Amino acid sequence: MFRKILIANRGEIAVRVIRTCKELGVRTVAVYSPADANALHVELADESYTLSGIRSYLDIEEIITVAKRAQAEAVHPGYGFLSEDPDFVRACEANGLVFIGPSSRTVEMVGNKINARRAAVAAGVPVVPGSSGATSLTRDEMLRLAEELGYPVIVKAAGGGGGRGMRLARDAEELTESLVVASREAAVSFDDATVFLEKYLLSPRHVEVQILADQYGNVVHLGERDCSIQRRHQKLIEEAPCPVVTDSVREAMGATAVRVARAVGYVGAGTVECLMNPDGTYYFMEMNARIQVEHPVTEMITGLDIVKEQLRVASGEPLGYDQSDISLNGWAIECRLNAEDPYRNFLPAPGTITEYHQPGGPGVRIDCAAYAGCAISPHYDSMFGKLISWGRNRGEAIQRMRRALDEIVIEGIKTTLPFHRWALNHPLFCRGEVSTSFLDQHWPNGTIEKSA
Ligand code: ADP
Repeated sequence: MFRKILIANRGEIAVRVIRTCKELGVRTVAVYSPADANALHVELADESYTLSGIRSYLDIEEIITVAKRAQAEAVHPGYGFLSEDPDFVRACEANGLVFIGPSSRTVEMVGNKINARRAAVAAGVPVVPGSSGATSLTRDEMLRLAEELGYPVIVKAAGGGGGRGMRLARDAEELTESLVVASREAAVSFDDATVFLEKYLLSPRHVEVQILADQYGNVVHLGERDCSIQRRHQKLIEEAPCPVVTDSVREAMGATAVRVARAVGYVGAGTVECLMNPDGTYYFMEMNARIQVEHPVTEMITGLDIVKEQLRVASGEPLGYDQSDISLNGWAIECRLNAEDPYRNFLPAPGTITEYHQPGGPGVRIDCAAYAGCAISPHYDSMFGKLISWGRNRGEAIQRMRRALDEIVIEGIKTTLPFHRWALNHPLFCRGEVSTSFLDQHWPNGTIEKSA
C-alpha cells in the first residue's frame, strides 16, 4: 500500500478519500485554492499545500509540482477537475506518480463518447441508436440520419460530460441549429468540436453498473444504480439496486459492463452507464473512468469501500475475490445536497451556511464537506454533500431517508432539501416508477429546458 498520496480535489470527495486513507494508514496531502483555505478537506488531511488560483485544481503542472514536493507516491483525482484528463494521467505517469485510476490510454478512449460507443459496439454491446462515426458526416447526412432515427434526437459533444454539451432537437430546423451551436460550444468547452447524434429516448431510466478491475485481468461488477431523478440531465437522487432490475437482468447488464471494461483494458473503479426503456431493453451510453458521486449507494449494499478498492488496485494488489463473492444486501438511496434554489430551476445559490446539523441514527450516512460557518463558493460545483440511507428493503431506506431529511438542518443558503422532501413523499417515487423526465413532468417548480 502507498505511504502517502495527494488528493487532487476538494469538497466532499476529498474528505471521502481522506477517510479511507486514515483507515489504511496512508498519509494524505491536500491541495486547496485561495477560496478553500478553511475547507474541511484541508483540516482533515495530514498535510496541505496552497494552490495559486481559483482554477488551480485544473492546473496539471501545479498539482504535479506539489505532489513531488510533498513526496506523494500516488494521486487520487476524485471526480470532475482532472479526473478524466488523459494529459493529467500522462503527466503523473511521466513523473513517477501512480494515478489512482485507469491508464492514460483507457482514459483517452472512454473519455471520447464516440470512441467509447465504438468500443462497446465492437464488444457486442447495444448502444443508443445513432451515429457511431459522426466525425465524417456532413450536415445533410446528419439530417438524413435523424429522419431515419426519428425525432427527437440529441446532439452530443464527443468530449462532453457532467450533463453539459447536449442539445435536444425536435425537428430538422432545430437540428440544423443544434448542430452549429453544439459544435461551437463543444469547441469552447471541451476543446473538440466533434458532435454526434443519438435518438432521444422518451422517459428512459438511467441505470449504471459499477465495475472494479485489477491489473491482472480480474473484473467484477457490483450491481447497478438507478440515477433517473435528474435536473438538466444531472443526477439529484440515486439508488441501488434499481427498482425494476431483476436478478437475471442484473446478471446480463453486469456481464455487459464487464465486457465493456475488458474491451477498453480497464483498471480501477469505473461505471458503465446505460439508458433503459420502459420495456426493459437497455443501451450502453458511456463509460466513466473515475469514482462517481453516487458510489456510496453501491458501498452500502455491497459492504465494500470502493475508494479502498481503488487504492488497493492502484498499488498493485489483486482484487482477491470474484463475482461469486459479491452479494447485494438491502437498499440504499442518496440525495445530493446542492447549494441551489429548487424553486428557481435549481439556480446555484452559493453563500455561507449559518447553521448545520447532521442527521444520524440507524442506516444513515452523510458524506459532506460543510459545517456551520463554512462558505459554499460560487467558483465550484454547487454540490457540497450527500445524504445516504440504507434499509433492509426499499421501503425502509425511504423511511430512513425521510427521517434524516426531517432531522437535517442547513440554514443560510438555499439547498435541494425541499425538493428531496417532496420527492421522497411522491407516490411515483415511492412506487419506484420514475424516469429521467420525472422532474419535467412532476416537479411543479422545475422548468423544461430545450437544451441541456
Ligand atoms: P454526461 O456525460 O454529460 O453526464 P450522459 O451521456 O451521461 O451525459 O447523459 C446524461 C443524461 O442525459 C442521461 O442520464 C439522460 O438523462 C440524458 N440522455 C443522454 N442521452 C440520452 C438519449 N439518447 N436519450 C434520452 N436521454 C438521454
